[in-house]
Amino acid sequence: MPELPEVEAVVNGLQNTVIGKKIVSLKAKRPKIIVGDAEQDLGKIRNVLRRGKYIILEANAIIIIHLRMTGKLLLVDRKVKERKYVRAVFLFDDDKKLLFDDVRAFGTIVIKQDQQEYFPIQKLGPEPLLKNFNFDYFAKKIENRKVPIKNILLDQTVLAGLGNIYTNEILHRAQIDPRKSANKLKKKQLQKLISETKNVMKEAIAAGGTTISDFRDLSGKSGNFQKKLEVYQKKYCRCGNKITRIKQAGRSTFFCAKCQK
Ligand SMILES: [Zn+2]
Repeated sequence: MPELPEVEAVVNGLQNTVIGKKIVSLKAKRPKIIVGDAEQDLGKIRNVLRRGKYIILEANAIIIIHLRMTGKLLLVDRKVKERKYVRAVFLFDDDKKLLFDDVRAFGTIVIKQDQQEYFPIQKLGPEPLLKNFNFDYFAKKIENRKVPIKNILLDQTVLAGLGNIYTNEILHRAQIDPRKSANKLKKKQLQKLISETKNVMKEAIAAGGTTISDFRDLSGKSGNFQKKLEVYQKKYCRCGNKITRIKQAGRSTFFCAKCQK
């Protein structure tokens, strides 16, 4: 599933290619993929932004895209034949079209007149790389939370953009046991967790994201951060200890019981 760095790579690709293009039409190839009025004159794309894992196209309306499990955006020539997993098509006023390709079909396109009208975006917590994600904010958020710290990191209303791969990696780097109750973290651990969150996000963005199975950016390029993964889907920690794999909130957690306390 694309997380913040992968979505950032897609957004960078869109910023370099579709800003200024006029949307002639936006058509769903499958019912319920698009929520909102796609028949209106969507006009020119003025800007492309990311918030959490959402891609936001600013035109006459605001088009909010979530890739979920397997969604991909592909900018291709109009004449390119669409494979069966293409769920929606943006036609532009030149010879290009933008395909929303999604094998699992959990992705969504929501059209609103204003970004703030969209409740899931209103509710998002801060961006990991911004200053408002800091010790005071995070300490306050977790002081009474008796849930495992990994679940907190996955909660988009606490912190926007993290998913299963990066939460595993961040906790490993911060040497924190993912099962540890959030309110039991010591001050030093919390500081380390925040700084490693920022470090991992910066490095993963610079690497163009992580490609485990099929993530591709707009131009079809893979990410590179998978080479730097130290715990996610690994057998051994660099300390030599075997990595433990458990389930938390239905997701796989990987950690080193020796390094992470
Ligand atoms: Zn270890």
